[in-house]
Parts: sequence; C-alpha cells; structure tokens
Amino acid sequence: MLIENCAVRGLDISAGHIRGVITEQGRLSADQVLVAGGAWSSLLLRRHGVKIPQLSVKNTVLATVPVENVHNGGAADHILAFRRRQDGGYTLAPEGFHEVYIGPDAVRGMGKFFGPMMRSPFGRAYWPASPAGFPDAWGQRRRWALDGASPFESTRVLNPAPHIKSVTKMLADFQELFPQLGKVGAQASWAGMIDVLPDVVPIVDKVPDRPGLWVGTGMSGHGFGIGPAFGRILADMMCGQDAGHDMTRFRFARFGDGSKLVMGPGM
Ligand SMILES: Cc1cc2nc3c(=O)[nH]c(=O)nc-3n(C[C@H](O)[C@H](O)[C@H](O)COP(=O)(O)OP(=O)(O)OC[C@H]3O[C@@H](n4cnc5c(N)ncnc54)[C@H](O)[C@@H]3O)c2cc1C
Repeated sequence: MLIENCAVRGLDISAGHIRGVITEQGRLSADQVLVAGGAWSSLLLRRHGVKIPQLSVKNTVLATVPVENVHNGGAADHILAFRRRQDGGYTLAPEGFHEVYIGPDAVRGMGKFFGPMMRSPFGRAYWPASPAGFPDAWGQRRRWALDGASPFESTRVLNPAPHIKSVTKMLADFQELFPQLGKVGAQASWAGMIDVLPDVVPIVDKVPDRPGLWVGTGMSGHGFGIGPAFGRILADMMCGQDAGHDMTRFRFARFGDGSKLVMGPGM
C-alpha cells in the first residue's frame, strides 16, 4: 500500500520496540520502519532520541534553452557539469559550489563535520540561518506532539530558491566552454537541499538499540544513482535476507563508536 501526501508525524515506539508510525491520517502498524526522509531524516529521528550528524546543503542547477548539439551526453570538470536534455537544451550544475545553512543541527555536528570540511569543503557559501520551515532552521520545532500538525505538514515540499549569482556564472562558464553557441539563455533554474553526512557516505543500516528501526539516508548528492540499489538492499535486509554486499561502510554506528571516518568520493 502506498499513501501519498501523508506526513509521518513520528514513530510509534513502545517498550523500546517499533510498533509503527503515527501519520496525519492516523496510526499505521508495522514491526519494522525505515526512515528515508532525505534532508528531514535527522529532525524526525532526533524527535525520538536517535541522533545522526546531517547537514542540508543547497545546490542550484539550471536548464538552458534548446541550443546546437555540442556534446551528446554528460561531462564535468572542476567548474561545471552538464548533460544534454531530450528537449535540446543542457542541464548545468556547478562543480564545487554549494551553500551551507547554519542551524542547531549544523552546530551540533560541527565537531564531526569540521575536519572533512577543512579538507574538502562541502560549501562555498555559509549562511547564518535557513529560511523558516526548513529542517534545520533556528525556529524549527524539535519537539512536537504526535496528535497535532508536525513540521512535515507545515513545510510539505522543501523547495529552496535558486542562487541567482550561481545561475549567471553557470551560463557564463558554459558559454566560455562552447563559444560557438554565442549567448545561451536559461529556461528554468531550481535548487534542492542535499542531505550530507560527515564522510559523504549514506547510512544504510538498522539503528542499534532500537529494534525494528532502520535508516536509509544521507545520500550526499548521489541518491538518484544509488537510491534504487539501496532500496533493494534495504528490502532484503529488512526481510532478514543477505544484502549481497558488505554493508560495513554504511553502518549507523560509525559516527559514534570512535571509528576513523573514511571520506567518500564527494558530493
Ligand atoms: C540540485 C540537485 C541535483 C542533484 N543531482 C543529482 C544527480 O545528478 N545524481 C544523483 O544521483 N543525485 C543527485 N542529487 C541528489 C538526489 O536528489 C538525492 O540524493 C536523492 O533525491 C535522495 O533521495 P532520498 O530518497 O534519500 O531523499 P528525498 O529524495 O529527499 O526523498 C525523501 C522524501 O521523504 C519525504 N519525507 C520526509 N519526511 C517525511 C515525513 N515525516 N513524512 C512523510 N514524508 C516525508 C520528503 O517529502 C521526500 O519526498 C541532486 C540533488 C539536488 C538537490
């Protein structure tokens, strides 16, 4: 059964065991629950005392108007990534420009994020606060009753505004790369929040000491590509079957058991 447009307000836990979820449409029973809430995962889990270090990092992309075919595929260097679209335009994304919004979770996780960020910065712009309603906004509710509206109902779609200077720069970079195109216009630009963990590697695991609770989050900018595989793997693991892969790299406990973090390939 798939229920759309229905927020999960929180987990139903009794005697330490997962019994289901409380949604805005009522209670759903389940002896296993997977939290795969993208940038919202930390907020939901922390409501129940489960802590993960997760940053929401904004990335802006754009679609050009249809132009001459200069490359019939995708490519990236250290400045720009682009991919040919079926409508004849290109989708452009900046390489290495991300915006980090500081909030309570970011501050709490700074001890874990500081080292990796110094070595390989996730962000190029740091803002002191997220817009209201975002998962790690300063004014965001961290505690809420499960019989009233939750933060996931107040902000149903996380849809940040694109970074306009980044849009202008991407167009200029693309035109510099392919001067034969002349002036290239944008037909649309948009942004999204990438949920990042300190080593830029997802958590795909059950939560220790919370029988029945699983987490699949922190895709760190690669969820379109790796999401389907993790979906299959999580389904197998939750059904008690072999994942078919060594999942040690994705274990939940690595942020709290003193392990040395090994960085993933990047956002
Ligand atoms: C601009 C941009 C470009 C990207 N480009 C690429 C790319 O080229 N390749 C790639 O592999 N990845 C890319 N990504 C990353 C990719 O989009 C994410 O990694 C992926 O969407 C994460 O999938 P997810 O299912 O973990 O989370 P999400 O896609 O965020 O899905 C989580 C869902 O859970 C819902 N949810 C959250 N909390 C609740 C709740 N309490 N109750 C009910 N529902 C809830 C949310 O509304 C959302 O629909 C890009 C991301 C951005 C922002």
